[in-house]
Amino acid sequence: MSEKNERKVMLVPCSGIGKVHGLIGREAVFRVAGELRPQDTELACLAEIVTQDKEIRERMNGRLTITVDGCPKMCAEKNVRLVGGEIFTSLRVVDAFRTHRGAQAGSATELTSDGWQISDELADRLALKVDEARQGGNKDA
Ligand code: SF4
Repeated sequence: MSEKNERKVMLVPCSGIGKVHGLIGREAVFRVAGELRPQDTELACLAEIVTQDKEIRERMNGRLTITVDGCPKMCAEKNVRLVGGEIFTSLRVVDAFRTHRGAQAGSATELTSDGWQISDELADRLALKVDEARQGGNKDA
């Protein structure tokens, strides 16, 4: 792995596929990795992390990582820790709903305009966390 890649922040969304929360989180992560901070981030797949095989352990070992979990079970954060990833911070989609009480965000497969707004706001917050991580900011998790 190049030194440049070493400095990239690893992003890991949870795999929550049965609820809108998982979709919102994944879309936020994809927006950051694809549009907002493509040079500064890298993606890892939670399903591969869960296998804890040698390849993913080597890839994640000591890597500064931001997880985005759909619910308080925090599957992404817990499993990143199990393979040696260093959690910079963990964002939760449920928290993003706190400023959108009563929002109709959509379904597990499709977001409404409310859902896209929540996801975009989460992406903006995530992008700022990526900046903090790359600048060596304090970890808050
Ligand atoms: S954190 Fe919640 S939504 Fe995400 S994979 Fe785990 S149980 Fe599903």
